[in-house]
Amino acid sequence: METLIGEGKTKQVFSYDSDHVLLRFKDTITAGDGAKVNIMENKGVINAQTSALIFRLLERNGIRTHYVGMYDERTMIAKKLKMIPVEVVLRNIATGSIVKRLPIKEGEIFDPPIIEYFLKDDSRHDPMLNYYHLEYFKLMSRKEAEVVESVMMRVNEVLRDIIRKMGFELYDFKLEFGRLGNELIVGDEITLDSMRVRDPKTGRILDKDLYRKGYDLKTVKEAYEEFLSKLEKVV
Ligand code: C5P
Repeated sequence: METLIGEGKTKQVFSYDSDHVLLRFKDTITAGDGAKVNIMENKGVINAQTSALIFRLLERNGIRTHYVGMYDERTMIAKKLKMIPVEVVLRNIATGSIVKRLPIKEGEIFDPPIIEYFLKDDSRHDPMLNYYHLEYFKLMSRKEAEVVESVMMRVNEVLRDIIRKMGFELYDFKLEFGRLGNELIVGDEITLDSMRVRDPKTGRILDKDLYRKGYDLKTVKEAYEEFLSKLEKVV
């Protein structure tokens, strides 16, 4: 393969050509800012395929992403972006960090959805940012944040619809953005590591919360596989 130019907890980045990189999805699954780490066999393939299907769906709906194609079953060819080290989270239904931080009950519905920004900094547990912080750290102007928020809302409509077709509900998701010239484009991944999906009738969890809550890797893997096979049928 080409030269390794970057590596995170779950992906490796390789150089490809002047405008593209290869993103190789690893089999690692992590939680608690990397405090808990395991290998889940074939997870890289499942997540690469899940991301590819969702990126293609977004592109068909006029949302710009870094997705170009697949290099192999766990490696994506992506446009080379200047990534912004911010996690942008959209929440439809309250769960996770927001119910710990604020007086909000698990399961409360946000209409309109709530969008939050977090700095990618594991050593500080990804602190939340506001527009002033984004500008102070030269991460994003307020105008760019408005563009990002409109993309988040569009992605939410598309993702929510497709996930409802699968019989599930989208609680929240995280995206990362990068710059290509003057444009802000959706980068990174969209998988069950970066969104929360539940069965609305039974409350059954299908996403990485299973791992965060200590379920065994077999249960986590089966949920990821089930989600991907259902996604393949509706996209
Ligand atoms: O933990 P929290 O409730 O803030 O997470 C909100 C959403 O962002 C969840 O879907 C979670 O999977 C995702 N997330 C992520 N990467 C992180 C933190 C959260 O993908 N480092």
